[in-house]
Amino acid sequence: MKLTINNLSKTYSNGTKAIDNISLEINEGMFGLLGPNGAGKSSLMRTLATLQLPDSGQVLFNDIDIFSNKISYRKQLGYLPQEFGVYPKESAKGLLNYFAVLKGISSKKDRDVMVDYVLEITNLVDVKKKHVNTFSGGMRQRFGIAQLLLNQPKIVIVDEPTAGLDPAERTRFLNVIRNISSENIVLFSTHLVEDVKDLCKEMTVMNSGWLAPKISPSSAIDQLKGKIWETMETEEKLDATSISYIKLSDRYNSENVLLNRIYTEERVPDTFFSVTPKLEDFYFLTLKGT
Ligand code: ADP
Repeated sequence: MKLTINNLSKTYSNGTKAIDNISLEINEGMFGLLGPNGAGKSSLMRTLATLQLPDSGQVLFNDIDIFSNKISYRKQLGYLPQEFGVYPKESAKGLLNYFAVLKGISSKKDRDVMVDYVLEITNLVDVKKKHVNTFSGGMRQRFGIAQLLLNQPKIVIVDEPTAGLDPAERTRFLNVIRNISSENIVLFSTHLVEDVKDLCKEMTVMNSGWLAPKISPSSAIDQLKGKIWETMETEEKLDATSISYIKLSDRYNSENVLLNRIYTEERVPDTFFSVTPKLEDFYFLTLKGT
């Protein structure tokens, strides 16, 4: 199973180029689209959900064009937008049953099996009788996944699902989508490096409509080994040396001294400490266009 994006571009009528000639292939498993606010993630996801058309380029799902075969593609798609709208005063189970009717599962027996299954997989069994409008942010997100799973989608697209969730809810939510990713394509966007680190088979960084080549989080970290350093030298002093470097971040150590964290492939003085690369380093480096 694969989703293939070829030279996709989209410029809004106000001149914003939200998607800038993107090509990417996504396979089964969890795929993380990491990028800051305004990077173009939602624009890309809305396009992949066929809710908006690109200006140019092509998207194929298993070699079939998604825009000219929208109806059959949408039957295999589950899309959870960033804003999921208003929640009615109705129990989770009742509402899922109602959605199942709308989605054409006409037999009551089949509906019951399906509703129980999606409640189970999204960890909502214990609260199935509670009204959805009383749910916490994390429960709402999991409910969003439950309702899209009623279709038994092959491709699941979720836009910034962890935004605004507390750490425990985030973990619970990510575990739910991890569970459904074993046989499906699960594409989700985030601005949190932590979300992609341990979960995603593959990831890419998006910035200003542009996409970096896809990579696994572990290879992203591996390729930085021996190239990430911390130093007490100020940026001014660093600039005065002949070392060409890229500043990634900084932090205060326990003695309240500011340490600059840099990337360089060059030999550095003994006053620099070699540090273990993190995915965050890869993210910052990619954002800086290297
Ligand atoms: P992200 O999801 O990464 O935050 P978006 O896709 O929402 O990024 O936005 C990418 C850029 O496109 C931003 O500059 C945003 O302001 C702009 N944008 C998004 N939607 C529209 C729209 N409907 N019309 C005009 N500009 C838009």
